[in-house]
Amino acid sequence: NTPYQRKPDWLRVKAPVSKEFAETKKLMRRLGLNTVCEEAACPNIGECWQKKHATVMILGDTCTRACAFCNIKTGMPGKVDVLEPVHVAEACGEMGLEHIVITSVDRDDLDDGGAHQFVRVIEELRSRSPGTTIEILTPDFRHKAGAIERVAEARPDVFNHNLETVPRLYPTIRPGARYYHSLKLLETVKRVDPSIFTKSGVMVGLGEERLEVSQVMDDMRSADIDFLTIGQYLQPTPRHAKVDRFVTPDDFANFEQLARAKGFLMVSASPLTRSSYHAGDDFLRLRAA
Ligand code: SF4
Ligand code: SF4
Repeated sequence: NTPYQRKPDWLRVKAPVSKEFAETKKLMRRLGLNTVCEEAACPNIGECWQKKHATVMILGDTCTRACAFCNIKTGMPGKVDVLEPVHVAEACGEMGLEHIVITSVDRDDLDDGGAHQFVRVIEELRSRSPGTTIEILTPDFRHKAGAIERVAEARPDVFNHNLETVPRLYPTIRPGARYYHSLKLLETVKRVDPSIFTKSGVMVGLGEERLEVSQVMDDMRSADIDFLTIGQYLQPTPRHAKVDRFVTPDDFANFEQLARAKGFLMVSASPLTRSSYHAGDDFLRLRAA
């Protein structure tokens, strides 16, 4: 660790030691489910799992892409587990979740990019836990004709797809993706079903300028994106992109203010914000308002 990469105090978190943490881990292992909380080494795992908020990662633990910021394993994934949708619904029922977040690795190897598995998970959740609201965080389904529409037609409550960073940094940070494709994805979801809330997020601290973040917010609003998350990028291992700077809590508060002024319905901007951080609390509060 160079002094440059040493984390400031506002990023320090407590070690995960609660009873609920251990129970959540056991449940996931028993049902053979992966979580992005573990695979991406999320710093919030102690807090989230204590409250039994876990984000299930479907379609395996191996991604066909290798983004420079991401800790998920890269390689050739295995076969799709047809029982996974049932296991996700079981986990949701056992944890008694009011809101569930489902994400996946990128599956460029599959004809539909994994769209069918997302649909199956939504169907199982709707039939076994009809009161639970469903948020999905999907890959970009690039080159997979009709996949976005298919998933949107399954009507999740929230459809999230992260832009991750500003367009200038895509070639180094998110080389397999295209900024305008990702933006268009969320526009397509709204076109298919305007009642679905759309959501996106970016990480800061990768070398972007404040003005570029503001431009991304404008692009998102032009695509009618409802919710925004902004969090600090953390380098998971020395092989990953370096942290360019640690954005201060005050700067995050300024981003939040700016985003609200631009018309987002829900904004979460803080050093430890991740797509799924407090996602249920925020969404249920908005719905009740
Ligand atoms: Fe998991 Fe999201 Fe919480 Fe991180 S913020 S521990 S990914 S639920
Ligand atoms: Fe990680 Fe998603 Fe990039 Fe795969 S596509 S490496 S899961 S961020």
